[in-house]
Amino acid sequence: MIIKKDKDLILGYLEDASNLEGGNVDILYVPETEEEVKEAVCECVSKNIPLTVSAGGTGTVGSRIARDGAILSVERLNKILSIDKENKRAVLQSGVIISDFLEALAKQNLFYPPFPTERTAFIGGNIATNASGEYSYYFGSTRNYVRRIKVLLSTGKFLEIERGKIFADKDGIIKIGELSVKIPSYTSPQVKNAAGYFSKPQMDLIDLFIGSEGTLGVITETEVEIIDDLQSRFIMVIFLPDEQRLLEFVSEIKNNPDLKPVSLEYFDKNSLNFLRSDFHSIPDSSEAAVYIEEEEGENTLGVWLNLLDKYEVIDTWISQDKKRYQELINFRHKLPEKVRDYFKEIKSHKIALDIAVPDESFEKLFYFYKHALDNEKIKFVLYGHIGENHLHLNFFPKNEKEKTIVNDICSKAVRKAVKMGGTVSAEHGIGKIKHKYLEVMYGREGVSEMARVKKTFDSHCILGLDNIFSRELVLY
Ligand SMILES: Cc1cc2nc3c(=O)[nH]c(=O)nc-3n(C[C@H](O)[C@H](O)[C@H](O)COP(=O)(O)OP(=O)(O)OC[C@H]3O[C@@H](n4cnc5c(N)ncnc54)[C@H](O)[C@@H]3O)c2cc1C
Repeated sequence: MIIKKDKDLILGYLEDASNLEGGNVDILYVPETEEEVKEAVCECVSKNIPLTVSAGGTGTVGSRIARDGAILSVERLNKILSIDKENKRAVLQSGVIISDFLEALAKQNLFYPPFPTERTAFIGGNIATNASGEYSYYFGSTRNYVRRIKVLLSTGKFLEIERGKIFADKDGIIKIGELSVKIPSYTSPQVKNAAGYFSKPQMDLIDLFIGSEGTLGVITETEVEIIDDLQSRFIMVIFLPDEQRLLEFVSEIKNNPDLKPVSLEYFDKNSLNFLRSDFHSIPDSSEAAVYIEEEEGENTLGVWLNLLDKYEVIDTWISQDKKRYQELINFRHKLPEKVRDYFKEIKSHKIALDIAVPDESFEKLFYFYKHALDNEKIKFVLYGHIGENHLHLNFFPKNEKEKTIVNDICSKAVRKAVKMGGTVSAEHGIGKIKHKYLEVMYGREGVSEMARVKKTFDSHCILGLDNIFSRELVLY
């Protein structure tokens, strides 16, 4: 096992896409085997120092950024152990990089449906955050594809958790050997969700670990579901004259059983302005755009053409060949990358909302954002997964006064979304920066219940401290 104590060498592990500042970490463990993972965890337990698991470092809420103690990087647990084409399963160590996995699958005409957007992330990081991706409108998030995980607890004990084997009983108790844990009493919302521990009556134990942001154990291995490769896809980027028309257009697509896009994404006017320097032909008069990707061979061209006509779209970009397809993919990827780089440039940690709500409430939330922002002169971009009623609202406040206004808008939006039956985080998680939003969602009691679950699995209370909730809840 590589062990590093030189602060300069550790520095790179103390950042992610949140721009949150790292803490004072004394030691970095880079194990190559599960036994070495155990060695590192046991050493931290014996010295009573906190341990934060680090993966690809693409998280946006600071959850891999340790405040103190030690870091365990899973980067060398990077083997694809098997790909079973017949049974559509793959077994991976947790440090496998998503792009490597997708490449290995493509060689056998196979595909991993969560198709996470940021492909330098690791599979373990994706599981720990229940990541979703480019096609989650159609396929759903990582949770739907995880069949088994192997997890090391801070007691030094490995748990093999297979989907469909261990469930909560009617009193909410899950028994695993000598361990007995009461799941939180809330039920997670029925929308795309990555906020806090998953909970629902008679839930499967594996779902407690998916999305637990490194707080319950170290995932060392996983088995995931894979599928045959998709048909080739075509993309349309459709520019619309106003937002109301865009909302109606999207709603019609979602309710048309003949249309089965794998991706349905939104770009507001500010997002289009952000992208204009790279894509000069974005029409000036467009107030909003939708990005649609669908498998070829669906014979839907006629339906699409009718819709384009009906909504008087300003312009439509279509991927008529492979080169254009790649250009339009780049159009989609460019925005979150530009947003990330811009936050770095202005040296601001991310102030962003990642809310999703049920279908019937989306338009209300959308116009709440619009009205709140129209009244202020603060720079922002609003974009994302409109198919799942889930938009990213990123603010770029210039000064403290603007930060206060932004925080006020965020608090109001979060309260609204929770009342509507939505979530405060549909995909990025809670990490170290959204604790107060989680409390709005589940109340103090719900968060305390999560802390109790953590104490049962991480009985030494050293793992992922300050992720999801503050360490005070488990240490004192
Ligand atoms: C440009 C950009 C676009 C993005 N787009 C999306 C998107 O579309 N959808 C989406 O969901 N996310 C998106 N993200 C966020 C990010 O990619 C995901 O949250 C991702 O799952 C993080 O994985 P990682 O390997 O980078 O984990 P890290 O950031 O290293 O860690 C994340 C958390 O997982 C824990 N963890 C990691 N590995 C393990 C393990 N083996 N055992 C236990 N805990 C572990 C860490 O302790 C930490 O709490 C985007 C990020 C960027 C920068």
